[in-house]
Amino acid sequence: MFYEDDADLSVLSGRKVAVVGYGSQGHAHALNLRDSGVDVVVGLREGSSSVAKAEEQGLAVLPVAEAVKAADLVVILAPDQVQRHVYRDEIEPNLKPGATLVFSHGFNIRFGYIKPAEGIDVVMVAPKGPGHTVRREYVDGRGVPVIIAVEQDASGNAWDVALAYAKGIGGLRAGGIKTTFTEETETDLFGEQAVLCGGASQLVQYGFETLTEAGYQPEIAYFEVLHELKLIVDLMIEGGIAKQRWSISDTAEYGDYVSGPRVIDPRVKENMKAVLGDIQNGAFAERFITDQDNGAPEFKALRAKGEAHPIESTGRELRSMYAWIKDTDSDYVEGSA
Ligand code: NAD
Ligand code: MG
Ligand code: MG
Ligand code: MG
Ligand code: MG
Ligand code: MG
Repeated sequence: MFYEDDADLSVLSGRKVAVVGYGSQGHAHALNLRDSGVDVVVGLREGSSSVAKAEEQGLAVLPVAEAVKAADLVVILAPDQVQRHVYRDEIEPNLKPGATLVFSHGFNIRFGYIKPAEGIDVVMVAPKGPGHTVRREYVDGRGVPVIIAVEQDASGNAWDVALAYAKGIGGLRAGGIKTTFTEETETDLFGEQAVLCGGASQLVQYGFETLTEAGYQPEIAYFEVLHELKLIVDLMIEGGIAKQRWSISDTAEYGDYVSGPRVIDPRVKENMKAVLGDIQNGAFAERFITDQDNGAPEFKALRAKGEAHPIESTGRELRSMYAWIKDTDSDYVEGSA
């Protein structure tokens, strides 16, 4: 593990950092670096709605090409599916010799969509949490753990630069772990597809459908299969699955042991292996990028189908009636995704 004392922020002094993109990660990196005393400029498309947001926060904003020309570090925080276009059209032709490229996810490097020239340092600092949490934790004096990798080390200095960057965004307050682009990309995609996002969403929807199809009230079903999930996951984060089982009733714990493996049976693990296989062999990446390049018809249809699931309208109504949850991310507008 690497902590604050292992990194030297002065490695970044006298260097200009261009953060390309001002979304979930981009705003957090730009603001945290700025507040750590680093010289930051945000690169955005002309006419982007993010320009005003970044300027309101007191950040300098330039068109991407201009931001890159002046920068010693270029941080690519546009969406993964557009990074290769931005790289080819605006970053590569304007990159200073000896500059460092910084990623927060290895997708475009791992699957060969971006091939940086020799002579460029290529590093990754990937916070293991959503961008809005990365900013919130920093403001509160804490940090979100990061994983750090060096893909290309032309200068011989890439690791020190990556560590300093990780410190600048507050990640080393929590801790950093060394990884590779390949390990980060494959495990990140697997985690979000099989467990965190895909697996958990499908599990919750099936639970909700099972209860409501059996005639139980949707509001009760929502509490039992969605709302309480956070309380359970918080216990897992604090003390592992063991602490979660210690805290719940013996009835719940016994039910966990006897029914968990009935619901998530060994076929699920076989399915997970197939998902991992499609990540490793590039089939997932190709399907995603092909759909995106065609205007994302599959992606948009799947998003619309998810939003139409009855658990969403049930939840919206419950959340508007009760005060037990506040949406802390002001950018998110329900139903607007
Ligand atoms: P996002 O969709 O929230 O924001 C993308 C930003 O890029 C927006 O400001 C958008 O205006 C801008 N943008 C879009 N097209 C552009 C273009 N052509 N030129 C310049 N800017 C453009 O993205 P995100 O979720 O923050 O993801 C950014 C990167 O961070 C990805 O590599 C992602 O995998 C990685 N990452 C994200 C999270 C997360 O919390 N969302 C966590 C870890 C890693
Ligand atoms: Mg998003
Ligand atoms: Mg992840
Ligand atoms: Mg991811
Ligand atoms: Mg219960
Ligand atoms: Mg107990």
